[in-house]
Amino acid sequence: MKPFQVHIIGSGSAVPSAHRAATSQVLHYNGQYAMIDCAEGTQIHLKKNKISLSRISRFFISHLHGDHYFGLIGLINTLHLYGKTQPITIYGPAALYDILQMQLKASDTTLKFPLIFKPLLPNEKHLIVEDDQMRCYSFPVRHRIAAWGFLFEEKPVAGSHARSYAFCTDTAFSPELAGYFKDVSVLYHEATFMDHLRSVAEATFHSTSVQAAQMAVLSGTGRLLIGHFSSRYSELDQMLDEAREVFPQTDLALDGMVVDIKS
Ligand SMILES: [Zn+2]
Repeated sequence: MKPFQVHIIGSGSAVPSAHRAATSQVLHYNGQYAMIDCAEGTQIHLKKNKISLSRISRFFISHLHGDHYFGLIGLINTLHLYGKTQPITIYGPAALYDILQMQLKASDTTLKFPLIFKPLLPNEKHLIVEDDQMRCYSFPVRHRIAAWGFLFEEKPVAGSHARSYAFCTDTAFSPELAGYFKDVSVLYHEATFMDHLRSVAEATFHSTSVQAAQMAVLSGTGRLLIGHFSSRYSELDQMLDEAREVFPQTDLALDGMVVDIKS
């Protein structure tokens, strides 16, 4: 079976802490590497996780809150300094292109590699990239600013069921979103707060651990990973326990963890 893994680079929200970096993940499928979100400091954490930056050719940015993309220009600049010549493709909110161009222009940087930018589209699920091994879709979520989740589906291989991974970024609890990743093998869903702070989650367009678990039930996922933890929680055991009461196949998405995607 071809390797299909997600590396959790950062599992925190808003501000980095000594124990948790902010959101970033690397998806590995059979030698192809893609990054999902790129918080401040991500390239340093890639080194700690022994993931070669130059192997990543696609970048998926969910939205323009800083804890999801402030590391991107630094990472692009490092690839430039490494002398990379192969193109990279970024899938993200349209305004991200202007932000990157402004940063490059201000530093009088002409990249040594082609930077291809594909803006995400609103309102519904869209197929955004397809190759001979994988399809990736974007889908809108419900957050304070426009934000998207991503679904990565392996193309069916003879003799085995296709595996899939959904990344459900910052979002208020929205049962209707479950239709976008029905029966996904592994679902990552944000769980910024424990359930006693449900009103805070609603006010800030985030979810609680129990709500993430309810999304796992609604979507029929095989396994749930929860992350994007508020820095107010130094211990996460209770958060995990309350999610498992609703959906037992739940695990914490902790920094440095590598998860095999199984059907
Ligand atoms: Zn956000």
